[in-house]
Amino acid sequence: MSLTAAFVGLGAMGYRMAAHLPKSFDQVLVWNRTFSKAQQHAEQYGTQAVSIEQATQADIIFSCLPTSADVESIIRQYPPKAGAIWIDCTSGEPESAKRMVEFLKQYQADYLDAPVSGQTIGAEKGTLTVMVGGDTAVFERAQTAIEPFAGLIKHVGEPGAGFAVKAVNNMLLAVHLWATTEGFTALKANGVDLQSALECINTSSGKSGVTENVFPQRVLNRHFPLTFALPLLAKDTGIALKLAQSVKLPTPLLSLTQNLIQTASLTAAPDSDFSAAVKLYESWTKITLE
Ligand code: NDP
Repeated sequence: MSLTAAFVGLGAMGYRMAAHLPKSFDQVLVWNRTFSKAQQHAEQYGTQAVSIEQATQADIIFSCLPTSADVESIIRQYPPKAGAIWIDCTSGEPESAKRMVEFLKQYQADYLDAPVSGQTIGAEKGTLTVMVGGDTAVFERAQTAIEPFAGLIKHVGEPGAGFAVKAVNNMLLAVHLWATTEGFTALKANGVDLQSALECINTSSGKSGVTENVFPQRVLNRHFPLTFALPLLAKDTGIALKLAQSVKLPTPLLSLTQNLIQTASLTAAPDSDFSAAVKLYESWTKITLE
């Protein structure tokens, strides 16, 4: 593509997502707060490490930062040029997406919320699920730009709808994580072999992404590799809860789950993976899941 792309935020996800862009764009600019990461990216993938002022003047700007507040602060300080599309892959807040669409109108630029799912392995392979909120015509203009790192790209609705779907997805992950932890602790306390239990459940109706992937790859082997930080999951459950409460729905299970994940995040060691939420329950029961 003769258009210039830029990627803002080369964290666990962004570093890998941006690596796919040279497949489709002749010029790929990268910026990161810790600039050495941008320089390393440029050396590794043939991208170009630039200042934030330069990055935000690209035709298509991707961002993947921890929170909507981080993204908003950059957009307000360094608004894009007329005709540009800002594609925000952060797991953010629906209200922020609506604010950014309105804010960018004065610059004749567009904004899409386009959070991703598939973890760092999906980012590396370029198979992420991208759930996009925003104007249909803008989505259609942006779709090809997203393809290099996507397995599925789905336009899910108005501005903020992508962030809403992502938050609910991660709330479901949290619910499954906590429920599986309690269930497997009960099995262990009753003398059941956890590997055998996992094998049965993974061909039964109680299976989930947690039993198929998280428990075997992170929990039962006690690896807890840091690829998705626990405070980020706590942020996402908070967004999902707010979404339900904003339309005055009762939220008994979502509130409880948000509370548990928030407590786990506040009490966990710094730099804990999301799967380490299990350790909070282990500290109560004195039973280790292995
Ligand atoms: P990381 O913590 O690995 O990376 C965060 C990135 O944001 C770093 O490049 C960091 O720069 C930068 N950053 C942090 N604060 C600021 C700021 N105030 N201004 C500018 N840059 C900043 O996060 P992830 O890549 O894991 O997550 C990014 C987003 O993607 C989050 O919203 C997360 O919820 C979501 N996500 C994460 C997944 C995962 O598996 N990790 C999966 C799907 C979505 P520096 O290098 O200087 O610290």
